[in-house]
Amino acid sequence: MTQTITVIRGDGIGPEIMDATLGVLDTMNLGLQYEFADAGLVALEKHGELLPAATLDSIRKNRIALKSPLTTPVGEGFSSINVELRKRFDLYANVRPAKSFPNTKSRFPSGVDLITVRENTEGAYIGEGQQLSEDGETAVLTQKVTRRGSERIVRYAFELARRTGRKKVTVVHKANILKSTSGLFLKTARAVAAEYPDIECNEMIVDNTCMQLVMKPEQFDIIVTTNLFGDIISDLCAGLVGGLGLAPGANIGTDAAIFEAVHGSAPDIAGKGIANPCALLLGAAQMLDHLALPEQATRLRTAIVATLEAKDSLTPDLGGSGTTQSFAKAIAGRL
Ligand code: NAD
Repeated sequence: MTQTITVIRGDGIGPEIMDATLGVLDTMNLGLQYEFADAGLVALEKHGELLPAATLDSIRKNRIALKSPLTTPVGEGFSSINVELRKRFDLYANVRPAKSFPNTKSRFPSGVDLITVRENTEGAYIGEGQQLSEDGETAVLTQKVTRRGSERIVRYAFELARRTGRKKVTVVHKANILKSTSGLFLKTARAVAAEYPDIECNEMIVDNTCMQLVMKPEQFDIIVTTNLFGDIISDLCAGLVGGLGLAPGANIGTDAAIFEAVHGSAPDIAGKGIANPCALLLGAAQMLDHLALPEQATRLRTAIVATLEAKDSLTPDLGGSGTTQSFAKAIAGRL
């Protein structure tokens, strides 16, 4: 099988972790071909725009992209490129696994194995109805939740549970206060859950969820929630298992999917060759699952865990003195 994927090397540490990741994928002989495309600051400098049409065309054609972090310039007139990509391709499901890994400085070196499924296109992030009164004293934000958007994300979570043999879906909401938006989400989620009697479903209010995650994270399997809550909860979960260097994310739509690291372009360490490549590598593993190559995805994850276990060439964020390249080579050597 030959599959062409769009590769966006990105900004800051992006090219360093992407080169390391592609090097590891190449040793797996997966028959992947790479079509490189620019986005972010590097695209602004080269082509005069943050998200060139050629990049969008490439993603549209290949339907799969592996993306390094992008720097969104600070200031008026620049909206987040990541939010723009999600909108353009209707990437409605943001899927972020959080799993305990050995030899991280995490508070939970074992026991956490959960996936946050976050609605990625609605809620508080629609970018509409944001107003600040002329005197600067009052700000207003519109949130939008639809039955269709809620239904497809909750269905995605239950289908993911079935596909991966997971047992429980927790619907996270704030319907007690946000009666219209969160209320519609919860009502829709209940109707979808009724179609999946084989999967346990429980409901939890978002503030309690945060406490429960910190106290007893092992009770969670799959969490499904709206955009803003999911954004915060998935970072909390990344923190439970050792931080951003180990947190991948997938943005899934009907016609395209983009796989990435959760972290940003880390300008403070860019160019130093010490960025941890694991988050993007784990994003690549999610991509292999999506490409119906689950054995290869497991092979990659197993090599990452074995390298962490052996403390072989770990990067400084994990307490080692390895480099991006030496860490990646140690992983590749275990494949
Ligand atoms: P960041 O995630 O880039 O960095 C936060 C901290 O984590 C820094 O100290 C950094 O050195 C460290 N870090 C991040 N990734 C690491 C890795 N792989 N290995 C070792 N250490 C790592 O967050 P930030 O500084 O708030 O954002 C920097 C830029 O990234 C901003 O322009 C922001 O817009 C952008 N950003 C992009 C994405 C994306 O493209 N998906 C996500 C978040 C932020």
